[in-house]
Amino acid sequence: MKLLAPGVWRLKEVPAPSINIYVAEDVLIDAGRRWDRRRVFAETEGRDLSMLALTHAHPDHQGVAKYVREARGIPLACHADDVDAMEGRRPMQEAAARHPVNRAIKRIWQGPPCKVDRVLGEGDEVAGFRVIHAPGHARGEVIFFRESDRVAICGDVIRNMSYATALPGIKEPPAIFTYDPAENRRSIRRLADLNPSLILPGHGPAVTDIAAFERFVAALPA
Ligand SMILES: [Zn+2]
Repeated sequence: MKLLAPGVWRLKEVPAPSINIYVAEDVLIDAGRRWDRRRVFAETEGRDLSMLALTHAHPDHQGVAKYVREARGIPLACHADDVDAMEGRRPMQEAAARHPVNRAIKRIWQGPPCKVDRVLGEGDEVAGFRVIHAPGHARGEVIFFRESDRVAICGDVIRNMSYATALPGIKEPPAIFTYDPAENRRSIRRLADLNPSLILPGHGPAVTDIAAFERFVAALPA
């Protein structure tokens, strides 16, 4: 695990961080793809975990949720608006569900549905972070924001990675994975309004160049 901020780590991934899983204090944040099981279990072995909390219930963030919940005996938490998806009552990926890429992701990455034990809402506290609802990419997308040092774990509100080249770069999430891109842009502006000092996205390395993030936000379509 790599320490990114006080009490905040990212699980290792070779060759570069692309599907991110974080630990904040004793809370695991996100659960990768179904095939990340070995990585998640190996890296969290021997570490006390009190909860698994999801930024959103998409197949690349909930893949091993059920396995971790059962093996570690810890509660699974996600935002109220993603409980149906996590528990298997509606598709996890609502945008372009029939697109071949999304069908493949569902088949290869998506983990089994699983009961949600703790339903998160705006303003709740998780590991010293405040829950901020940030829909658009997923209905129950949240930002975990820590006031004291303005660290934001932002899920897929933004990404810091090109899926074409795998190189870092601040971008919106792709439209085929985003049910309402305009709503997600409002969530990006909400992230900017928090005045973060460090942004930890769901994909790609940490965003440390906040001036570059602000330029990206300023250039977004209205
Ligand atoms: Zn994602």
